Amino acid sequence: MITLIKNIDILTMDENNTLYKNGCILIEDSKIAFIGNQSELNMDNSYDKIEDGKGKLAMPGFINTHTHVAMTLFRGYANDLPLMQWLSQKIWPMEDKLIEEDIYWLSLLAIAEMLRGGVTTFADMYMFMEETALAVEHSGVRGVLARGLQGPDENSQRRLEENRRLWENWQGRGDGRIQVMVGPHAVYTCEPSYLLEAMELAKELDVGIHIHLSETRQEVDNCIEKYGKSPVRHLYDLGLLDGHVLAAHCVHLSQEDLDILKEKDVKVAHCPASNLKLGSGIAPISDMIKTGITVSLGTDGAASNNNLSIMKEMALAALISKGVEEEPTLIPATLALRMATVNGAKALGLQKEIGSLSPCNKADIILLDVHAPHYYPHTDWINHLVYSGHSSDVHSVWVNGKKLMDNRELLTIDLEQVYGEVNKIYKRIMGE
Ligand SMILES: [Zn+2]
Repeated sequence: MITLIKNIDILTMDENNTLYKNGCILIEDSKIAFIGNQSELNMDNSYDKIEDGKGKLAMPGFINTHTHVAMTLFRGYANDLPLMQWLSQKIWPMEDKLIEEDIYWLSLLAIAEMLRGGVTTFADMYMFMEETALAVEHSGVRGVLARGLQGPDENSQRRLEENRRLWENWQGRGDGRIQVMVGPHAVYTCEPSYLLEAMELAKELDVGIHIHLSETRQEVDNCIEKYGKSPVRHLYDLGLLDGHVLAAHCVHLSQEDLDILKEKDVKVAHCPASNLKLGSGIAPISDMIKTGITVSLGTDGAASNNNLSIMKEMALAALISKGVEEEPTLIPATLALRMATVNGAKALGLQKEIGSLSPCNKADIILLDVHAPHYYPHTDWINHLVYSGHSSDVHSVWVNGKKLMDNRELLTIDLEQVYGEVNKIYKRIMGE
C-alpha cells in the first residue's frame, strides 16, 4: 500500500526541526518512504492513494509517556482531593470492582480520545493489561504496556506473573506496535524486596521499567523517614536505575536527585495537569533540562487530568515554568513540541522508529487543520501549535502506515458502541 500526501507543510521534528513548505510524504506499508519537497519526488502515479494536504500541517504523532488508560472510568469522579486520600479512599475501592473485560472498553475509550487528539503512542501501567493490549491491537494505536505492581502482599507474585505473561503473549504483537515494560508502581507501594523482584524480571525480559517517582512531597518525606534517603536515591542504591527507566512525575527533586537522574539517563514523564490538579506541585523541568535529562510529556490517567490531551500538556509545560520562575525564556515552544514528540520516543526507547518524520521511520503521522482562525496569520507553526493549538485541530491520523482517523472520524473504533459499553460499566461499578 503506497499513499502520497501532497501539497502540505511538514514539521518533521528531526534533529534540525526541518520544515517543508508545500512538501509531500510518501507512506509505503508501515514506513515513510520519502519526505521532502514535492519537486524532489519523482511522481510516477504508482500510488494506491493520493491525499491533498492543502490547508493542513503534517507532523509526527504525539507521544503520551504516562497514563492509565482504563481510568477513563473515573473521569469526573472524586475531584479536588490530595493524591493519597484520592487513591486510598476513592480510586482503589472502586478499582476492586473492575472485571477483566471492563478494561478493554475503558481502554478503547481512552484510545479513541487520544487518537482524536493526535496521540499515536502511549505508555500505560495498570491491571488486566492484556485487555488493554487487545484494545491496542484492535484500534491500531501504538502502546508500551506495563502491569502495575504493588507488594509484597498476597497477590504480588500473581501481579509479577501477569507482567511476565503480558510480555510472553504481547511483546511485538500488532506488527510491532505493542511493547511491554515492567511496572513497579512507586516506592511507597513497593517494598525494596519487591522492587528488586520487579528489577530482576525487567532484566530477564530485557525491557524497561515504568514507575511513579517523587510525585508528592509526602512521598519524599515518608521515604526519607523510612529509608533515610529520597525516592530517587533509594532506587539508585537498589540498582533499579541501572537499566532503561521511565519515571513519571519527578516533582520533588534535590540537586543530588537531578544528578542521579542524569547519571543514570532516567527518562522523565512530566505530567503537569495531573500534578496541578492533585496539588502535587510543579516539576522543575527547566532544571532537569539544564542538567541534560530527557523530559517527555504524560497526561496521567483521565481521573486526575481530566483528559488525555498531549497538546494541553505541551502548553502547560511551556507556560508554567515561565510563570513560576518569572522567566519567559524558559521552555520555548520548540522544546515543548520536542518533549511531546522526539523526547517521548526517547523516553520509550523508540527513537529509531517514531517521534520524528524521517525516511525509514514508522509512518506515525498526524495532519492538523490549520485553516482555522487561531492559526492565522500563518507565521510560525511551532508557536501556533504550542500556544494556540487544540486537540480538536487534529484532522487525520496514521499509525504504522495505517490510517486510523480521517476528517475526525475514527476508522477502527465504533465510538457509539464504546460509549454504550462504558455507560454499562459505570452503572455497574457505581451501583446506579
Ligand atoms: Zn500515574
